[in-house]
Parts: sequence; structure tokens; C-alpha cells
Amino acid sequence: MKAIIITIGDELLIGQTVDTNSAWMGAELSNLGFDIVRKISIHDLRKDILEALSEVTGKSDTVMITGGLGPTSDDITRQTICEFFGTKLIMNNEVLAMVTEMMKKRNFPMNENNRRQAEVPESCRVLKNSAGTAPGMWFEKDKTIFIFMPGVPYEMKYLMREQVLPELKKRFTSQVIIHRNIMTYGAPEAKLAELLEGFESSLAPEIKLAFLPAWGIIKLRLTGTGTERRLLEKAMEENVSKLYEIIPHLIYGENEEPFEVVVGNLLLERKQTIGTAESCTGGNIAHLLTSIPGSSRYYIGSVVAYDNKVKENILGVPVEVIGKYGAVSEETARLMAEGARRLMKTDYAVATTGIAGPDGGTDLKPVGTICIAVASEHGTVSEKYVYGNERISNINRFSIAALSLVRKQIIVH
Ligand code: AMP
Ligand code: MG
Repeated sequence: MKAIIITIGDELLIGQTVDTNSAWMGAELSNLGFDIVRKISIHDLRKDILEALSEVTGKSDTVMITGGLGPTSDDITRQTICEFFGTKLIMNNEVLAMVTEMMKKRNFPMNENNRRQAEVPESCRVLKNSAGTAPGMWFEKDKTIFIFMPGVPYEMKYLMREQVLPELKKRFTSQVIIHRNIMTYGAPEAKLAELLEGFESSLAPEIKLAFLPAWGIIKLRLTGTGTERRLLEKAMEENVSKLYEIIPHLIYGENEEPFEVVVGNLLLERKQTIGTAESCTGGNIAHLLTSIPGSSRYYIGSVVAYDNKVKENILGVPVEVIGKYGAVSEETARLMAEGARRLMKTDYAVATTGIAGPDGGTDLKPVGTICIAVASEHGTVSEKYVYGNERISNINRFSIAALSLVRKQIIVH
């Protein structure tokens, strides 16, 4: 069961519009069990459209095409489709009535361009589009189904949800694809791959493992393909359990769950609270934690202690400690966390102090150095890492490292 996606539009090739359509369609088709074997983006050019359509004919069960169906002269897909399928445009009265009605609702006069949108290729099945003015078109040629849809993401999704996906589901129900995402943190990709060597080589051929890293987090995606949903679900579950046996210390969640949700849930379960004292992360940890609805039940507040004056005067870090060990030191981080916990009367407080870059590093403390501390009734723990040179990436990595240390402290007690 193969699918190919073609997106048409000059704006996609020059990066003016990000091609979100193919990402969305890819996910939906994959859920139905299709293997998306290719994605192609092309210009609004007759020759390029014809070439792409010829190229994919017979190579895939279905081809989804979006773009170029608008009412303006740069949208030339419809005429080109007629040429490809050897048919001609005819006025479709039902579509004309819909377009007229929509224009009336929006209080715009109908013009020739709008009328033209109701012209559809004679030999296609028309997919009526109540979300916009351009209808979708369904063709079949040489055992390949071609489905043309407008480029406007909202209209494409409407047609896919209402008409295309249900019909594809009916016609191709043989295959099942299941994805399971296991979120890990604490081991770099190469190390994780080494730990999972045996696991990977023992996987049945219908189950594939992918490593997807971002800012120190590595998502392990298991993809299973089969015909019997129940059997496949069982096999997937067994493999997920094996992962929990092999790397229990590295798994912190499943299915894209971010650290701020995991930490928030742990605090909620335990009816505990947290506060933050952030130097180099500048409030990013506070932002992550408060992005989660309901965080007011466990998140108390933040001190953005960017300047040493704030570390000293608000958090109570003695000036001698900063003088002796430096602002970027585990000693300072620990006292920042303890100060914040005292100030906000929370169960936990997490503090960060580091060098986000790109400048400001020294030989002893290079750019990317981060000191993190977590204070709680069980005492204070701290860690030090060195990451890269890129500022925003560092701020994100620092924040994730801090939340990971918080999680470890909560679950250890
Ligand atoms: P069109 O159907 O080519 O007239 O496209 C209408 C609008 O939809 C364009 O202005 C684009 O901004 C948007 N669009 C077209 N193709 C895509 C795509 N693949 N992903 C996201 N947006 C798109
Ligand atoms: Mg276009």
C-alpha cells in the first residue's frame, strides 16, 4: 500500500510557504497503513506538472496532489490535469451553485474567475468542498488513484477528513501501522544505540526502530506494520516492555510527552510545589512549566537572577561564594536553589547558572557550560555539563537538563 504526495506551488520551492500539507497528509496516510514512498514539490508549470504525474503513474496505489487550483492565472493545475487525463473542462452546475452561494455569504460579487472554479474535468469524480470554492478531483489511471485538492491547508484537511480518508480506508484496509514513541534522556545517540544493539537485532522484520534526537532528548520510535491489529499491538507492547527493562534509567515518558508535563504530573500526584531561580535560562524553565494548563497548582514563581546583584540581594547568595567560585559554579547554583526555595516556600526549587554564548566563555568555563541545582527537603543536588556554542539551542538544552534533574529528585524520594 503505497502513497506519493505531490505539492504544487512556486511559493513552496522558494521557502515563502512552508509545505505543511505534505507533513499532515503523510501522518494521516501513514495512520491508515500507507507507506509514503515519495514527496515531490514542483513549480506551477505545465511541463513540470505533466512530468511529475507521468513519473508516479503505476508506481503507487494513490497519489495526493495539492495546490494550483485557485481562481487566478498562476494556478494552472486544472487545465494541465485535463491534458494529462485526456479530458476537457466542463461547467459543473452543482459546484457553480455552491460557489455562488459562498460568494453571496461572504458578500463578494461573482466574477469570471469564480465561475471558472466551477469548471471541472469531465472524466473526474468531483469532491465537493464546503470549506472553500475550489472542488477536489478524483481520477483513476493505470491502477493509480490521483486525488487533487486545493493548497489552502484548511480546505485540504476538510476534503481529506470528510471524503478522501474514509474512502481510502474502505478500499485499502488490509494493512495496519502502529507507532509507539518512547522518550529518553541522559545518553547520547551513539551510546543509546550501543545499549540497544541487542534489542534492535532481535526485532522482528515487521518492527522498525528509529532514533530521533532533539536537544539531548532522544525519541525512540517503534513502527510496526502488519495485517492483524491485535497481534501487532501485542508485539509492540512486548517490545516497549523490553525497552523499559534495558534502559529504565533513561526513559522519562512516552508519546512526545515533554519534561514539563512529566514534572508537572509528578508534582500534582504528590501535591508538591516548585519554584525557579534562573540566570542563563532567563525564565525559560518558568515559561515551559507555565505553558501547561493547570500549572498554577504546583508552580509558585520565579526569580530571574541574571545579574549577580539579584543572586546576592534577592536569593541571598553570599558575595564571597560568587567571588571564590564564580557566578557559573555548582556552589552558586546550589545557593541560588536554596535561596529560591526559602523565598517561595516551595517543596522544590531549581536553579540554573551558565554561559549560553556565543561569547563569554573561558578556558575553564567554555561557552555551553551549565550548572544546575535542585533544592528540596532531602537536601541539594547539583550537576555541571558543557554543551555547544549556539545560544538558543543552549538555553533549550539547559532547561531540559534542569527539568530532568528535578524529575530525578522527585522520583528518587
Ligand atoms: P493554491 O491552491 O495553490 O492556490 O494555494 C492556496 C494557498 O495555500 C497558497 O497561498 C499557499 O499559501 C497555501 N498552500 C499551498 N500549498 C501548500 C502546502 N503544501 N502547504 C501549506 N500551505 C500551502
Ligand atoms: Mg498556488
